[in-house]
Amino acid sequence: MPHPSQTPLEIAIAGAGPVGMTLALGLAMDGHNVTVHEELDGLSTESRASTFHPSTLEELAAYGVVEDLEREGLRVPDYQYRDRREGLIARLDFSLIRGLTKFPYRIQVEQSYLTRVILGKLAAHPNATVRFGSKVTAARTVGARAEYTVVRAGAARTETADYVVAADGASSAVRKSLGIGFEGMTYPERYIVASTTFEFREVMPDISWVNYISDPDEWLLMLRTPHYWRIMFPLGPDEDDDRASSSAEIQRRLHGVHALDGDFPVLHTTVYRVHQRVADTYAAGRIALAGDAAHINNPLGGLGMNSGLFDAFALRAAFAEAAAGADGVALLAKYAEQQRDISVEYVGAQTDRNWKQLRESDPQRRRAQAMRMRDIVADPEAHRRFLLRSSMLERRLAA
Ligand SMILES: Cc1cc2nc3c(=O)[nH]c(=O)nc-3n(C[C@H](O)[C@H](O)[C@H](O)COP(=O)(O)OP(=O)(O)OC[C@H]3O[C@@H](n4cnc5c(N)ncnc54)[C@H](O)[C@@H]3O)c2cc1C
Repeated sequence: MPHPSQTPLEIAIAGAGPVGMTLALGLAMDGHNVTVHEELDGLSTESRASTFHPSTLEELAAYGVVEDLEREGLRVPDYQYRDRREGLIARLDFSLIRGLTKFPYRIQVEQSYLTRVILGKLAAHPNATVRFGSKVTAARTVGARAEYTVVRAGAARTETADYVVAADGASSAVRKSLGIGFEGMTYPERYIVASTTFEFREVMPDISWVNYISDPDEWLLMLRTPHYWRIMFPLGPDEDDDRASSSAEIQRRLHGVHALDGDFPVLHTTVYRVHQRVADTYAAGRIALAGDAAHINNPLGGLGMNSGLFDAFALRAAFAEAAAGADGVALLAKYAEQQRDISVEYVGAQTDRNWKQLRESDPQRRRAQAMRMRDIVADPEAHRRFLLRSSMLERRLAA
């Protein structure tokens, strides 16, 4: 609830993805009046991010959703770097950061589960509204208010709020309407992800629930959610999407991971293009960008959704200060600077390093990489530092 000296703010959020919904819950808990506009007729059920890092769990605990994630999700106490030909390189063991976090593990569960849980919790907050079939096409600052255009049932209308947050994903209409650039690059490879209920640990008993597997020809990410394995493969620039997604091709790739007698039961496949892009700024007056609307990166390291959730945590704190009388526009400018730095210096750099490491083709550099990882896990202090950094805990503990 807001402190009696605080004035509840009116905040409109574009997008009911994990970032928009988490922010909405935080703001509703703080007593603000919040409206989420989602262009789809319901929450997205797409299979996308599924990793919740220890740092994210630490923050989400204050939102009352971690119990739900624990109940539905899979606890991952360690993860591995492997070589496709030689096997295990290094096992990163979260038990080394016990004592530094209440959550010395990752939780694997689909991001669509988090948004569903939050939608249920928002129902208990009369100051929160989620409008489906409601597309925000533009936003601007007009005097001491933010104005935005929303299209519902084919009709466009103008609405106002104290602030607007664009959490409307990578193609953000709000970001475009503000003329904010989204510079960066597109990776030459696309990724193909196949989900299967086949239990790989029965035939590869030494793997963890999350495995980054390097190979100069075809690296892999093998990651388990509560109900199935997701295997990610790179697709070369000349490979055709339709052919790569055909059942025969998916089976061929999966048989390359394990030579199963018969077909793998495949639940879904997705081909997607991967980018590394950061918005020129994350704030313009009374409008803030958050999550994929502000930054996108390759998914190797599970930092996309997690770093977006950190935008939501930072915005919640900024709006709490604004409600207590601080200058909201200045707070959004500060938010923009801090979160943008994290995207560039940490998230972008780290995920790009992960990508290069997995596909490295030079034998000498591959050997050096493997030796570096082995040295790290052999030294408890270096091992601990690596875990803190890769799970975004380092900054949180330093703050
Ligand atoms: C295939 C795939 C796999 C991924 N895997 C991982 C992973 O393993 N780990 C990881 O950390 N990240 C991963 N990511 C990235 C992760 O999914 C995103 O970082 C995360 O979804 C960002 O959340 P968001 O809320 O900012 O945006 P989104 O999840 O994109 O949500 C945006 C929402 O806004 C809605 N919307 C769009 N435009 C408008 C509009 N104009 N008005 C109103 N509503 C609008 C959309 O319908 C959507 O519901 C993956 C992404 C993809 C595509």
